[in-house]
Order: sequence, then structure tokens, then C-alpha cells
Amino acid sequence: MAKESIALLKGKVDVARVLDVLNAALAEEWMAYYQYWTASKMVCGMQRVELQKEFMEHAEDELRHASMVTDRIIELGGVPVMVPQQWYQIGRCVYDQPSSFDAEYFLKAIRSAEECAMTRYAEIVDMTDGKDIITCDIAKRILAEEADHEQDMQDYLDDMDAFRSYINSK
Ligand code: FE
Ligand code: FE
Ligand code: MG
Repeated sequence: MAKESIALLKGKVDVARVLDVLNAALAEEWMAYYQYWTASKMVCGMQRVELQKEFMEHAEDELRHASMVTDRIIELGGVPVMVPQQWYQIGRCVYDQPSSFDAEYFLKAIRSAEECAMTRYAEIVDMTDGKDIITCDIAKRILAEEADHEQDMQDYLDDMDAFRSYINSK
């Protein structure tokens, strides 16, 4: 436990609450990592190679987010979630067994996970803004990357729609 990290927050935020939301975010990062990782392995269709690469890049981002959140939990004297069974109990951004391996299915499922992640980090920013500068900064940086992930998924879906309209117009 980093004593000054805790002392700085005295009277400003409820550290136990911050730790709870950070652990929920951590559970969600692991699930996001695994969702991307399996999607990268399983995705099929015309854009297979491109999407494999994009999904794997994003998986690495999610793993880095998990690391950033974990380091902050430790600084605040907490213990990061230690067993995968807890991911579904404390995480809100859970995902379903894929009903298909096609690109569109994965892009939509991942887009909604990204939207959930953005809500999570926006809440953490609100909770810590002006009070816990470091957690707030971490949450803002991750939030910006989740927004970028969401946009990437949306761009692929928009391109698919455009391609479909083009084919249908022929
Ligand atoms: Fe993430
Ligand atoms: Fe993400
Ligand atoms: Mg990307």
C-alpha cells in the first residue's frame, strides 16, 4: 500500500468505493481482452485477415488497461480480483456465447461491450474528478481509447452497410 496515495484522498473520496468500481472495471477489461482474443481467432468472412489484426491489437489494448487499473488498485491498498469466476459477478459489461462467428456478429457484440466500458469509465471520472486525480486521469485515458475502439467497430459496420447498399443497387 502506498501511504501517500491513500493520505491524499482522505476526506475526498471513499477509497473502498473507488476500489470496488476499479475492480469491476478490471473484471470487464479481462472479459474485453478475452472477447477480442477469441474473436481474433474465430472471425470469418471476407475481412478475416484485417479483422484478426484489428481485434488482436485491441486485445492488447485491453490487457494494458487491465494492467493500468490493477496498478492503481494496488496503490490504493486494494487487491485486484484474483479469480475469473468473479468477473461475471462484479462486472457489468459481460458478453454472451457467440451465436455466430461472422464478422458482423463480432463487430456488434464488441461495439456494445465498448459502449458499456465507456459508461464505466465515465462513471469513474465523475466519481473521482477533482478528488482522486490519478484514478481520474487513468479513467480518462482509458475512456478515450474505448471511444476509439467503439469508432473502429462502427466504421467497419458502416462500410459493410455501404457495401450492401452498393450490391443491392446493381
Ligand atoms: Fe479497455
Ligand atoms: Fe476497448
Ligand atoms: Mg483500432
